Amino acid sequence: MLTPVFQNQVSMTTTLYQSPLILAGPCSIESESQILATAQALAKIPEVKMLRGGIWKPRTRPDAFEGRGEEGLAWLREAKRETGLPVATEVATPEHVELALKYDVDALWIGARTVVNPFSVQQLADALKGVDVPVFIKNPVSPDLNLWMGAFERFQKAGVKQLAAIHRGFSYYKESPYRNFPMWEIPIELTRRLNVPVITDISHICGNRDLLQATAQKALDLATDGLMIECHIHPAEALTDAKQQITPEELKTLLANLTFRAKNSGSVERDLAELRGEIDEIDAELLQLLARRMEVSAQIGEYKKRNNVTVVQMDRWKKILAEHVATGADLGLSPVLINKVFEAIHQASIERQGRILGEETNSH
Ligand code: PEP
Ligand code: MN
Repeated sequence: MLTPVFQNQVSMTTTLYQSPLILAGPCSIESESQILATAQALAKIPEVKMLRGGIWKPRTRPDAFEGRGEEGLAWLREAKRETGLPVATEVATPEHVELALKYDVDALWIGARTVVNPFSVQQLADALKGVDVPVFIKNPVSPDLNLWMGAFERFQKAGVKQLAAIHRGFSYYKESPYRNFPMWEIPIELTRRLNVPVITDISHICGNRDLLQATAQKALDLATDGLMIECHIHPAEALTDAKQQITPEELKTLLANLTFRAKNSGSVERDLAELRGEIDEIDAELLQLLARRMEVSAQIGEYKKRNNVTVVQMDRWKKILAEHVATGADLGLSPVLINKVFEAIHQASIERQGRILGEETNSH
């Protein structure tokens, strides 16, 4: 649910209220041409509402690619100018915050490795005091709901109003097909307690391309408010997270294969209730008609008994059925349905007449 958290905002309203918020872009911004080409391709996908790109990369081991820093911010700003997409990046220190805002980044996210450290989170919250920018808080790497909630509380206390959660899965001690185990119950409980929107980062949950589609669908089925998906113009050449990134073209296919479900009752349920009411009335009429038909059929039975006529008049029955099938076809009803319904009715009818004539008749 998109919540009151977002109702005060002005600049981002249209973007963030279009649930689900689809946020896509490379794990890392590597070069000007890479981010511009990726952004341009993504901007052609109508569902994509925001461009992501990592500028400072928290790496597990030293000597790995750690992001382009400030020069990457200039490229990200250019991508925003060329495509009109709002942009988001990860910040881990007050210096990152200052630079990101200097380069007009529209939304900031706090990474899973940063959220585990309350000192870092507090420094970021202090740096954002009085700044009206949306902040997305990823879950900490460990499945610790209180730690995640604590981060929200620190930003809320600092007066940051536009807050959302990003669910990116959790480190897990057991073998699993996921890079980060989803533990869906944790973000669900977070929403229950804090009433914040949750965006599902399927890329960091899955860690590989194969699981993305099913995980995206699962997130939507569980009423996520958005999806974060890592996209790279040449995934195989990506400097970080190469295994989980997809091309913008693949993203298009993934989105086209998703079933977006209505989340809140609202008008959908009202319309459904109305239609169900209509069906109930029609069924009641059908029952009345069936009862009347059986009544007339019984009178015919009495007549046949008095006049010594057999119950089954095969020629008449064949003719009637053929006529009903033809009329049904004109009404858009399938011959299978008409045959089934009228055979059942006819069967019940001849059984009733058979009882009246004092003989059991089961065949036509
Ligand atoms: C990322 O989004 O590229 C990233 C580093 O994610 P996380 O903080 O979830 O590991
Ligand atoms: Mn990544």
